[in-house]
Amino acid sequence: MSAKKLTPMFEQYLGIKEEYPDALLFYRMGDFYELFFEDAEVAARELSIALTSRNPNDETRVPMCGVPHHAAKEYLGRLLEKGYKVAICDQIEDPKEAKGLVKRAVTRVLTPATVVDEDSLEAKDHNFLAALFWNPSRNRGGLGWLDYSTGDWSGFESSREPELWQWAQKIGPRELLVPEGHEVPSFVSQNFAQIVRLPGKGPFDRASAEERICKAQGVADLAVLDLAGKPELVKALGGLLFYCVQTQKHELEHLAPFKPLTLGKHLLLDEVTERNLELFRRLDGKTGPGTLLHVVDKTKTPMGGRLLRERMKHPWREAGPIEETLDAVSWLAQDDSLRTKVREALDSVFDLERCITRIFLGRATPKDFTALRSSIGRLPGVRELLDQAQQDGQLPRAAAAILANWDDLSDFHALLESALVDNPPPVITEGGLFRMGYRPELDELLNLAEHGESALDELLARERAETGLPKLKLGYNRVFGYYFELPRGQSDNAPERFVRRQTLANAERFTTDELKGLEEKLMNASEERKRHEYKLFLELRDQVAEARPRFLYMADVLAAVDYWQALAEAARVNNWSRPELTPGRELNITGGRHPVVETVQGAANFIPNDLAMDEDRKILLITGPNMAGKSTVLRQAALILILAQMGSFVPAAKAKLGLADRIFSRVGASDNLAQGQSTFMVEMTETARILRQAGKRSLIILDEIGRGTSTFDGLALAWSVVEELAARGGDGMRTLFATHYHELTSLEGAIPGVRNLNIAVKEWGGDIVFLRRLVPGPSDRSYGIEVAKLAGVPPRVVQRAKAILADLEERAKRGESHRGAFIKIETSPTTLPGLDRPEHRNEIPAEPPAFTDVAPERAEIFVQIAETLTDADLDSLSPIEALNMLHTLKKKL
Ligand code: ADP
Repeated sequence: MSAKKLTPMFEQYLGIKEEYPDALLFYRMGDFYELFFEDAEVAARELSIALTSRNPNDETRVPMCGVPHHAAKEYLGRLLEKGYKVAICDQIEDPKEAKGLVKRAVTRVLTPATVVDEDSLEAKDHNFLAALFWNPSRNRGGLGWLDYSTGDWSGFESSREPELWQWAQKIGPRELLVPEGHEVPSFVSQNFAQIVRLPGKGPFDRASAEERICKAQGVADLAVLDLAGKPELVKALGGLLFYCVQTQKHELEHLAPFKPLTLGKHLLLDEVTERNLELFRRLDGKTGPGTLLHVVDKTKTPMGGRLLRERMKHPWREAGPIEETLDAVSWLAQDDSLRTKVREALDSVFDLERCITRIFLGRATPKDFTALRSSIGRLPGVRELLDQAQQDGQLPRAAAAILANWDDLSDFHALLESALVDNPPPVITEGGLFRMGYRPELDELLNLAEHGESALDELLARERAETGLPKLKLGYNRVFGYYFELPRGQSDNAPERFVRRQTLANAERFTTDELKGLEEKLMNASEERKRHEYKLFLELRDQVAEARPRFLYMADVLAAVDYWQALAEAARVNNWSRPELTPGRELNITGGRHPVVETVQGAANFIPNDLAMDEDRKILLITGPNMAGKSTVLRQAALILILAQMGSFVPAAKAKLGLADRIFSRVGASDNLAQGQSTFMVEMTETARILRQAGKRSLIILDEIGRGTSTFDGLALAWSVVEELAARGGDGMRTLFATHYHELTSLEGAIPGVRNLNIAVKEWGGDIVFLRRLVPGPSDRSYGIEVAKLAGVPPRVVQRAKAILADLEERAKRGESHRGAFIKIETSPTTLPGLDRPEHRNEIPAEPPAFTDVAPERAEIFVQIAETLTDADLDSLSPIEALNMLHTLKKKL
């Protein structure tokens, strides 16, 4: 659209849009929010609404679409869900009073991480906004995160940049703020929906950050918040607050006290470990069944659900809080009837925390109040259960502490009960919210509005009686309003106060002061009632908002009770037992099970295993054929420890566990195809990180490390990794290492603390049967071919593979090279799909074979082809590139 054609409206629109280039601009026009230009095209596509044009007859049309303002919430929710930002541009003056174009301004910017509407939030999950600041000159950085919908915020400082990025990923914010120009590692940018780059120095400037934080928390000094001496964290937090104020257009007043994450208090689980162990998501990225969270999440309330996620993300490191939680869990696990009652009482507890926050922010609907009312209505019930347990001398310490400071919030329950009707309408400006009896002045209005008819009837009856004129009637017309009417013959009997208004052929109409007064009241009542209810609603909102700390406190209390009962329920449903915690480094598990595999397969189909680690058995090398259950046994050890450190019972008959400070879980590259980078590179980076970060109390789970490269490299690396782990810190680290490198089993005896275990299998008539039992000693051999058979590889291929294997083994015994065997395989007419197993691939030499029986010029071509293939990085080739390569190679022949 050329400049001279701009209408004043578009001039205003474009001026505003310029300030919000990265947001969709919802521009209020009358009853609609309209979008124009590219925004309209995006919104029409994403929301499946009609795209029209503002000026259909112009040659330069402006694309346009719109949504009715009363239905905007749903559309906004959908756009946020898809990761868009939306700037809401409202009319900021009354159109009736506007001279010329109505003034408009952006009143709020909605972003995925700052929404508070119930419909846009996952009930049992936090919705985080995070900010990362790295200062290269100090070699330190900070990461902060904030849940706008609850006011919770936290963060920490670190001198390792990768650690900060790793944690940013672990926190999983909806938006991650970084200073513009700051390089974001590709593993982060690939996995994140939203990286928001904030331009200029302002957002992360230290002095303004300090000011913003102190203001938001109402403190004079950062030391109160444990933030003194953490300038990089302060800057990151400053970025968070800057963004919130910028988008929400008002000061942040609802933040809870800042809770720094003290890494030293927690069992650290990095993001890769979380992913490999499938704590929150399965390896395929899906949530729900197949994850540890799904097995333990028996919480009833959104707050309990969020607490459970938080604890699973950050289990405890020290025994104190764990034992305290275990006491509470075992109290509820033992008493089925009590637990059932607690679960029932929590059933209709809604999201107290987010409701009260919306109320505080002035963004609540009447539904939030009724949800609050019914939730706090459950408090006395829960308290009584605790009271009873205390009288019976059963109450564990943590629960007693809760009971001592219990607040039924009964004053607010009574207030909300008396104030609001059972099912108030969703809008707050149309009345119908309040109950009769709440306020006398409202009662009168309600009476009039709802019972106007009867007030008139009452008046008529009274006048008839007083005047003694039973023929007196009441009527209404548009011109005169309400009137009394008497037949002509009786009109002279009307008393003085009857004022004549109209004379008809056979009747006379009158009015009285009282009737006029009543009429006026009736007319105004409906409007007046709406206004008054709105005013009362705001009053009620302020009154409740003021008590926010009391509500939040009880939300935390209910979350804790819910957390205990959920773990107790999970313990009972899955038949788990209380672990014994020790300060040592043992891991003694009798009858251990994998909590997730067990629930997926059914307990009856899972074979429990024992595992013993201690100072003499620190590094366990687990061998066994593919599919035997190596990964399962490894992961189950880690999951048992994580559950225990969350204060949960564990899937084992008995478990004596030395607490860990970190768990690292790494899976060989070929099991965990990472995008982009070379898979082997990923594997080695991960291993390097473990070797640098693991400490004496860490538990390390390595599954098939070293597999992503050719045989001897992989073996050599795996070997030296084991040596290093055995020697680290003087006496080694607790490590469980599953490997197909048989050669490693010779380390037992050579390095102190290294022990071989294998998962027993039995051969039976040429087939193998998985016994799933972990037993001492190395496995016999790799059974790859039998597994190929189980996987459905055609019998002819399996037979052929067996013959080749026998030949290879025979040659190995005689000390011959494999080269002859390889050529034999290559020239054989049989294809060998079943042999694409690492253990067999290992036997094939990497260098191109010699082609002695072809003409030298042909041989040269073969060598070229072989070289191209050897050099190709197949992991990073796209299918098209691979096809192109094949074409080129074929042309050479
Ligand atoms: P590996 O790592 O040795 O290749 P996995 O640990 O992946 O083997 O186990 C393969 C499958 O075997 C699992 O998906 C599970 O279904 C089954 N499995 C493993 N351990 C057990 C067990 N203890 N009891 C029953 N089934 C098991």
